[in-house]
Amino acid sequence: MFDHHDIQRCRDLLQAADAVLIAAGAGLAIDAGIDYMDSESFARDFPGMVKLGFRCRAELMGYADWSPELKWGYLAANVNQVRFQTPPHPVYTRLLDLVREKDYFVITSNVDGLFLKNGFAEDRLYTRQGDYALMQCQTPCSNAVWPTWPFIEPILPKIDPATQRVTDPNVLPHCPHCGEDVIMNVRGGAWFIEEPYRDQAARLDQWLDRHRTRNLLVLEIGAGFNTPSVIRWPMEHIVYAHPHAHLIRVNKHYPQVPREIADRSIALQGSAMPVITALWE
Ligand SMILES: [Zn+2]
Repeated sequence: MFDHHDIQRCRDLLQAADAVLIAAGAGLAIDAGIDYMDSESFARDFPGMVKLGFRCRAELMGYADWSPELKWGYLAANVNQVRFQTPPHPVYTRLLDLVREKDYFVITSNVDGLFLKNGFAEDRLYTRQGDYALMQCQTPCSNAVWPTWPFIEPILPKIDPATQRVTDPNVLPHCPHCGEDVIMNVRGGAWFIEEPYRDQAARLDQWLDRHRTRNLLVLEIGAGFNTPSVIRWPMEHIVYAHPHAHLIRVNKHYPQVPREIADRSIALQGSAMPVITALWE
């Protein structure tokens, strides 16, 4: 676990930083109540899926072997809960308090919109894995994306609460252009449309260029080894390549940092909420 001395060193780094890059993985969302590995909330919300042998949301990521009725009964309810119903949470608002006066930027693998919902600026955000709030053609027949809500709103009242199946085939969503399947615009295969996020990526590149010779702090939270190429490894590279950069790595299971940047890093073993709260107090 982290100790008081490390927290004080982190506070000093935060205070001295000209710019802060927040880099967030699933570990941050878990503390805000979105846990894809949690079997208890899954059993409560999706009893029909439990009967079919599933134990948590993570098992259904990228799953393909289901009927449209079951697929959309589950996906519409899950997206509604994760992207549209999850309330603001202190773990995010306290994090914002930490960087509010700084030139900050956020990169996250999370697709839940929680940075926006908790007051972070939209033009300082890079959601490189996509966003549940957007839909695309699964084929895809074009690079178009559309707001998710109009697709799932008619589905929600037509879900059988016991089986999670859609009871009315007329509400099943289709691509407005070609009539084929649609899917949320999140990275899950070669079909993923990246266009909506290219401007975000360019803004982050420019921001990093601007801070190349300045006092940059990378505050990485909850990014482990599920998809390390998305957040964890790029952050190590940024710190390695920016001579004045420092890294604070907050991770419950894997706080280790590579030898090459160890003298410019602080590793805090813990989950997001206690660490951010300790920094915030
Ligand atoms: Zn299409």
